[in-house]
Amino acid sequence: MIPAARLATLPKVELHLHLEGSLRPATVLALAERNGIDLGCDDEDALVERYRFRDFLHFIELFYAGLSVLQTPDDLVTAADALTTELAAQNVRWAEITTTPQAHLAHRGLAAAEYAGALDQAQRNAAAKGVEVRWILDISRGDELPDDHLTAGLLTGPDAPAGAVAMGLGGPEAEWPARLYVDTFAQARAAGVPAVVHAGEAAGPQSVVDALDLLHSQRIGHGVRALEDPALVERLVAEQVPIEVSPTSNVLLGITPGGIERHPIGELLRRGVNVSVNTDDPGYFLTTLTRELELVQAHHGVDGAGLVALQRRAIEASFAPAATRDAFLDELAKWEAAGHDD
Ligand SMILES: [Zn+2]
Repeated sequence: MIPAARLATLPKVELHLHLEGSLRPATVLALAERNGIDLGCDDEDALVERYRFRDFLHFIELFYAGLSVLQTPDDLVTAADALTTELAAQNVRWAEITTTPQAHLAHRGLAAAEYAGALDQAQRNAAAKGVEVRWILDISRGDELPDDHLTAGLLTGPDAPAGAVAMGLGGPEAEWPARLYVDTFAQARAAGVPAVVHAGEAAGPQSVVDALDLLHSQRIGHGVRALEDPALVERLVAEQVPIEVSPTSNVLLGITPGGIERHPIGELLRRGVNVSVNTDDPGYFLTTLTRELELVQAHHGVDGAGLVALQRRAIEASFAPAATRDAFLDELAKWEAAGHDD
């Protein structure tokens, strides 16, 4: 077993984490105070107590309540800085962070240029800490409606953030299937913006198939429910579709039954699915990427070489340019050569 302190130094890549889901209770309270917002509780323990999700829709409800503290471009920079400081401490070298434009443009009234300016600033601040950040701008299903084209418009217009690399789709998957969003993803794709879609989390295998075939998703966010269809698993293995797995998220939201020891990541790996490990919403799930890797090591028999392979697959599934990818792989090889105790 690689001890946690050594695991913290492993060069890492994270492909699936939400800026708006990264707010630690302390950050939520500080931003609430800055903006004069009454959250109905003013200590961290009381806030953490609220994070006991009943189900996925309850989580979404809490997620939107938490968003109320992000009022200004400065708040966005503060939130992103807190996240990238955490990533730097775990030696995360490349992070593709999802953020939801609708939450800030439509709900808060920020101008597109203000939102993009905040993301640009946060990206520069992260780079100074050794973390290369890119942004996935995502549509939250049912909040940004299929005909709104807000996110696609931003990504293909003059105010796109400098570090934007893809368009995402999250939110209530069962109620708002991929087929409703075909046109807006076609608009982005025509402008060269790839798709990265949440699927196979709150809905079953068909949702994964639709993400691939209708929206041309280059990776699948979550994807764990693909296991309900052996033919789909075979396809994912044959095509080596990258699957962004977030174990603690799945357990806490009740997507996969039982505790972490029953999470299907071990089975996905054994079957040869192209899996990476991610945190999804580290602030709400009170986790870190290092912690997720510790869990996978402890409960699913992934050894040191396996943990390195997870990072290798993640950088290969990322939108990192070739030079960055090669530099990361070198760094990873050096870490492995330094030896680990397993
Ligand atoms: Zn997610």
